[in-house]
Amino acid sequence: MTNRRDFLRNASLLTLGGVLAGKTTKAEAVATRAMKTNAKQLGLQIYSLGRELYPEAAAGLKKVGQMGYTTIELAGYSADGKINGIAMADFKKYADDAGLKITSSHLNPPVNAYTKDNLQQIKDFWKKATDDHAKIGVKYIIQPGQPSTRSVEEVAYVGEVFNEAGTIAKAGGLIFGYHNHSGEFARVVPGGTEPIVGRPRGREQPAGIEIIYDGMLRNTDPSLVIYELDVYWAVMGQQDPVAYMKKYADRIRALHIKDVAVLGESGMMNFQKIYEVAYANNIQDFFVELEGYRDGTQFEGVKGCADYLLKAPFVK
Ligand code: MG
Repeated sequence: MTNRRDFLRNASLLTLGGVLAGKTTKAEAVATRAMKTNAKQLGLQIYSLGRELYPEAAAGLKKVGQMGYTTIELAGYSADGKINGIAMADFKKYADDAGLKITSSHLNPPVNAYTKDNLQQIKDFWKKATDDHAKIGVKYIIQPGQPSTRSVEEVAYVGEVFNEAGTIAKAGGLIFGYHNHSGEFARVVPGGTEPIVGRPRGREQPAGIEIIYDGMLRNTDPSLVIYELDVYWAVMGQQDPVAYMKKYADRIRALHIKDVAVLGESGMMNFQKIYEVAYANNIQDFFVELEGYRDGTQFEGVKGCADYLLKAPFVK
């Protein structure tokens, strides 16, 4: 016998069923967002879905929302103002309909080696990118590509250019940031011609030697440039991401939560400690990134990452 309470419970399950089947109505999208009010903050860098997200991006983002993700970080911006061929306003609508908030975007300026001659070209890129992203209300625009950094002097100039990008972003109401791979943990020397990978041998360290990442931090203005630490790539650069988070608590303001493939499976990443220190530092933005997954579709791998974090007692 169905009483009123059972009816209501079944009705809400049906609503949830509709959401899970990807048939999200506007009312259901609102309900999904309401359900997530007390949910864990779970971000996804959409690069993790590579080409699987396209061309059906609207449906794909709904799947992402149903997995428990609450925010996304874009990838694939080009100076025509599109994300992998999709107008940014449309992308935002797809995200809204999926109950996802776009909080960040990855994008690179069109040149790799920074000089006085191409500075204006770089600044023009960041101006256009800031204008485009301000329209969809992101918090961060983040550069994930390492510019040419072969010497202490080149790192210092990269810092100057990052400050320029940060100034432009700030004027548009956004925050400029930089995301690392492992190459930033190589070292450079004054007047160097190539980065030095790994610890230099011998007792005598070359004068003025410095890890590129430290040089980037030292040469950038904390009020203009934040750092999004990719914890996996820091480990691959033979560094402890937790030590960096502690040392630069006010500079590292977002994280890429990444492992060899699906989070937690390799056993080489101490995510519990990473989250503990992140919360102590009041970091608000975490983005899962999946690469190197070969056992299934990218959607399955991205869901595996969400499941790991949703079950993890140390993730708020
Ligand atoms: Mg990353």
